[in-house]
Amino acid sequence: MPAERYEESYLYRLRHSAAHLMAQAVQELFPKVQLSIGPPVENGFYYDIDFPQPLREEDLARIEKRMKELSKLDQRIVRTEVSREEAKAMILDPAIPGNGPDVAEFKLQLLDAIPEGEAISFYDQQRTDREGTLHRFVDLCRGPHVESTKEIKHFKLMSIAGAYWRGDVRNKQLTRIYGTAFETADELENYLHMLEEAKKRDHRLLGRELGLFMFSPRVGTGLPLWLPKGAMLRHVMTDFLQQEQLKRGYLPVVTPAIANIKLYEKSGHIINYRDKMFPFMEDEERETYILKPMNCPFHIEIYASHMRSYRDLPIRYAEFGTVHRYEQSGEVTGILRARGFTQDDAHLFVTPDQLIEEFVGVVDLMQAVLKKLGLTQYRVRVGVKDPHSDKYVGDDENWEAATAAIKNACDKLGLEYELSEGDAAFYGPKLDLIIKDALGREWQMGTVQVDYNLPERFDLEYIGEDSKPHRPIMIHRAPFGSLERMIGLLTEQYAGAFPFWLSPNQIAILPIADRHIEKAQEVAECLRGTIYDTRPLRVSVDERRETLGKKIREAQLQKTPFMLIIGDKDLEDGTLGVRSREEGDLGAMTLSDFLGKLPHPSAS
Ligand SMILES: [Zn+2]
Ligand SMILES: [Zn+2]
Repeated sequence: MPAERYEESYLYRLRHSAAHLMAQAVQELFPKVQLSIGPPVENGFYYDIDFPQPLREEDLARIEKRMKELSKLDQRIVRTEVSREEAKAMILDPAIPGNGPDVAEFKLQLLDAIPEGEAISFYDQQRTDREGTLHRFVDLCRGPHVESTKEIKHFKLMSIAGAYWRGDVRNKQLTRIYGTAFETADELENYLHMLEEAKKRDHRLLGRELGLFMFSPRVGTGLPLWLPKGAMLRHVMTDFLQQEQLKRGYLPVVTPAIANIKLYEKSGHIINYRDKMFPFMEDEERETYILKPMNCPFHIEIYASHMRSYRDLPIRYAEFGTVHRYEQSGEVTGILRARGFTQDDAHLFVTPDQLIEEFVGVVDLMQAVLKKLGLTQYRVRVGVKDPHSDKYVGDDENWEAATAAIKNACDKLGLEYELSEGDAAFYGPKLDLIIKDALGREWQMGTVQVDYNLPERFDLEYIGEDSKPHRPIMIHRAPFGSLERMIGLLTEQYAGAFPFWLSPNQIAILPIADRHIEKAQEVAECLRGTIYDTRPLRVSVDERRETLGKKIREAQLQKTPFMLIIGDKDLEDGTLGVRSREEGDLGAMTLSDFLGKLPHPSAS
């Protein structure tokens, strides 16, 4: 069952209209500005505007004030459809507020970009004042909008950023003003509160404070260095997923970081993915090599290394494969969008008969993974081909079969999903899980793709029951998306206080004085010998000559789930002073009583 799309919602229209209201206010306050585009976006809207003088953050309050006034004037928002010639004349007409030859640069280009045969429309914010004079603000726009500016009540301007016209660095840099709007005051307030909370949970900040990862300018943009605690988190997560995969019949493989360009010519990545690849390199025989942006072609080579029979299928090759993608330096964001990252990748080679069942199996694995990670709220998006684009490979028949298989599998699982045109991979449609975090923000994470096209490009075969060659179908999947993205999400989800099973350091042992260190080490050794959730417990001992208060504070700041305090009385009684991150002091108890207090692994 497809769910309602944001793009078709009232909120979307409201935000788009708020962008126009802002443009109107800006134009009144700064008459020489040139408007370009002002669309709604995920959490609000923006408008890209060319200002003759730089805009300052302080100006936002003035613009917002004028927007409030304009909103109350109850301006009707009227759509008019015109011909291309009329549109051009309107854009160039200085008598129409918001238009004229001095401010037409971008609007004329936008008009040119509207395909022949598509409707051309203007939206006119108009009111008649007491003297009977008509006031207007007219903007070339596809719409749709709400009916009156008075509907736009609960909004806020958020920030200013630079944005190149049409996203191209060779073009003029415009000023982007971001804002947000909601239907009710409560929703707006909740959103602003969430942003405050999000700042405190920012994974870049917590990543540094908790010693998970770092960046160094000497290493380079978007290339994280994983510190011991972050690397431990990665280890626990990969180990957990590896075990789930082994239970489900996956086979591990390992492939290199670079490959001959011919591999990626064959896969089609060179044509379809080149702008995301690092510059090429050459060896002494003048062969060109590239740093791998994706693991798929390597796994395909392994499959193709000998003839397969239908009895061998399905084959499920899994690899925690580190890839590098050339993200523009301005787009790199902590570990969420890095230039080097590790995918929890796997490729399944299946017969047509196995496709739906295997797809269902993958989604089932993804659901089990999310449950264990405590991510219980998510929606499903099925990304299909944009019928107007030519960026895809493969014939329509294959695309249809792949899309039908995904829909079938969703129906079988009883999953509600939203169809999204243009969100497919270049070789096939895909299903994405979009997770809602503790603050209600959405993150696109795990993905499954059905692919008939790469098997064709690589001429993959298996011998069927009929002794004839057949083409297998590939499923690409990554339940985490990447380790980096998932760790970024989990860090913000838990504000760094990871569940016990996942915490990089689960127990901090705090001896009060030097004479308690020996006992502390003994307890640590015993705990490290204890298997919890299939792995040895992770324990640290704070041997520094600091006060107990300071040691507790630091362990608390490091969000360590349990602290075990050892003093004279404990040596005498054979006990430990137990503190928990959430509940504080739990009193003195024996080591085995403490072990009984650990959360059950399956409950995380
Ligand atoms: Zn618009
Ligand atoms: Zn792949």
